[in-house]
Amino acid sequence: MLIDYYDVEVFTPPCEPGAERFAARARLRTDISAALPYLNASLPGAVYTPAAQALVWKKGGHSIAFHAYEVLTSNAADRQEAERELRSLIDLVNRTWERRDEITPDLETHQRPTPMAVYKLLPKTNCKACGEATCFTFALRLAASQVQVEGCPALFEPGQAHTLAALRSMLIDAPRIG
Ligand code: SF4
Repeated sequence: MLIDYYDVEVFTPPCEPGAERFAARARLRTDISAALPYLNASLPGAVYTPAAQALVWKKGGHSIAFHAYEVLTSNAADRQEAERELRSLIDLVNRTWERRDEITPDLETHQRPTPMAVYKLLPKTNCKACGEATCFTFALRLAASQVQVEGCPALFEPGQAHTLAALRSMLIDAPRIG
């Protein structure tokens, strides 16, 4: 196991005094830098910066950061959710490290697609079936990994296969799937 001991701190981010959102930080005793290229290869939409030994990722509404001796998550509704999310990230690092022989490490920095690039591939009918008021709002959330393509039923209608494939490729950044 790569991470077997860590300290957990749950806090309200200083930039949001009084905000009812919580962040959590794990201080590690093990350097997880060597695991970051494997996480980069496995996590859709992750942005890895080798020079800083840092990898940031969006999962649901959480902004997540992995550093050599630290893992952070933000935007949790309460302290329990923040801590639960953090522990699931520690498990993710450990599971990824244990599977490293099956994963081709990725040392590149990939850029996330812009909302406009995502929007261009959506049907642009503003039908609201996804629960959003417009296709562009859905594109904003899709680009931030807050929703998935399955949320737009129109993408699964006959004749949409190529568009759906292009969208998935853009969002997943195909080369990183291992
Ligand atoms: S379901 Fe699809 S087509 Fe309809 S508004 Fe949402 S993104 Fe646009």
